[in-house]
Amino acid sequence: MKTDIDQERLRQRLTPIQYQTAVEGGTERAFTGEYWDHHGDGTYRCVVCQAPLFDSTTKYESGSGWPSFYDAVEQGRVETREDRSLFMSRTEILCANCGAHLGHVFPDGPRPTGLRYCVNSASLDFAERGGEDSPT
Ligand SMILES: [Zn+2]
Repeated sequence: MKTDIDQERLRQRLTPIQYQTAVEGGTERAFTGEYWDHHGDGTYRCVVCQAPLFDSTTKYESGSGWPSFYDAVEQGRVETREDRSLFMSRTEILCANCGAHLGHVFPDGPRPTGLRYCVNSASLDFAERGGEDSPT
């Protein structure tokens, strides 16, 4: 997380699973999150700072039990970092704006990108297209 974020306030605002995932870098259990089987039309935002991260048009069924996207909403919205925890080499994905942990990206996604952004529901906040939160 970036240092200018008030972690105490976040702890109060977020649910425990949101905090553990987005702030502490945890992973929700597969098939337990709010969005793995969610089919709304809109934008998935960062649960911490509300930056738009993924669009529902790039969401697809990966069968993993986590929301999966083949692309970020815009270049530069999602940052990657090498993650060598759990004795594996994976690529962690983070919110480029606030540094919240999102999940991991894997090179086994569908075309056109070939990427699978495997994201925790707990790191996301869905905003319906045309809804009151929409920045149109
Ligand atoms: Zn963020």
